Order: sequence, then C-alpha cells, then structure tokens
Amino acid sequence: MELLKQRIRQDGRCFPGGILKVDSFINHQMDPMLMYKIGEEFIRRFKGEDFNKIVTIEASGIAPAIMVGYILQLPVVFVKKKKPKTMENMLSTVVHSFTKDRDYNVCISRNFLTPDDRFIFIDDFLAYGNAALGIIELAKQAGAHIAGMGFIIEKAFQDGGKLLREQGIHVESLAVIDSLDDCQIHMR
Ligand code: 5GP
Repeated sequence: MELLKQRIRQDGRCFPGGILKVDSFINHQMDPMLMYKIGEEFIRRFKGEDFNKIVTIEASGIAPAIMVGYILQLPVVFVKKKKPKTMENMLSTVVHSFTKDRDYNVCISRNFLTPDDRFIFIDDFLAYGNAALGIIELAKQAGAHIAGMGFIIEKAFQDGGKLLREQGIHVESLAVIDSLDDCQIHMR
C-alpha cells in the first residue's frame, strides 16, 4: 500500500532491537484518514474470503479493525489482555509480548467467538507471530474458522509471516519491512 509506505518512510522511526516506531500515526496518535484507507485496503485484499466478523487484540489492532467492521457493517471483537471480573464463559491463552518482553493471559468471551464464526484477524504489527498464534489457539478452543489475518506492517525478518503462511493461513500485510539494520528502514 503505497500511501502507507510513504508515511512509514516519512514518519517511522527505528529503535534498536528491530523495533519500528509509528506512534505519530498508527499506535499512539492516530491518523483516521489513513486508517480508513487501511481498512479499505484490507477489504480489497480479503475480498475472496467469506467472513462474518473481525477479531483483533487490544490495543493497537482496534483502530484498523473497527474501520474494516464499519465499512463492511460487521461486528468487531477485541481480545482482552486482562480478565474482566464480570466476564464468564471465556476462552483464554498465554501470549508473549515482543515489545514489552512479558507474557499476557489473553481472553475472549465464548459468546463472541463461536463455532458459527468465520473471522479475519487484524493487527498493527506482525513480528514473531506470538499474538497471531494466541488467536489461532482461541479460534481452536471456540471451534471458529480463521478466514485470514491482516497486518498493517509485517517485519519479514522476524519470521511470524513464514510461520503463519506455512500453516496455510491467508496472510496480508500492507507494508513489509525486510530489515531495520543500522536503523535504516528497508521496505519491500
Ligand atoms: P508478534 O506477536 O507478532 O511477535 O508481535 C506483534 C505485536 O507486538 C503487535 O501487536 C505489536 O503491538 C507489537 N510489535 C511487534 N513489533 C513491533 C514494532 O516494531 N513496533 C511496534 N510499535 N510494535 C511492535
């Protein structure tokens, strides 16, 4: 997605350890016009897939996911990183966070992920694929079907994409970073 790539070149910042900071337009301050176009692009890429719901994980996946849900008039459900006291009947698994270097117990209500659901998963970044693997596990527990997984930015040098594609998942990434070596952004 050329518009996104231009914006990453203009406003993205590299941090040691293979981290790309995009907090001026994606995951802290957000550009809703760009986010809307990101939603349209995901829809174009998943046009051939049959799905009834968008699933994401808090917090940074919510903005792109809601754009897709809004345009398609489909429900959006986000996986929570903290178990609410009032949530019964839930599915849970453990996800390792790459940026925070800690494990989270993530959860989703069985009411919102069921065997009748075919969903696409949307998130801001694909790095090692830990969040995505957590989603695969939750889908398995729910008996739901994954129709695809879409990421705003994939860091191809961290192998999550390879892992997911090897499992036969339809993965779409709107910008692919081949390397962040020497704090230079090399985009595909
Ligand atoms: P994964 O689970 O694929 O290993 O990592 C994806 C998650 O970690 C994303 O949800 C995102 O929040 C965070 N993440 C991974 N790499 C980066 C990065 O380079 N920059 C930022 N801002 N977040 C990242």
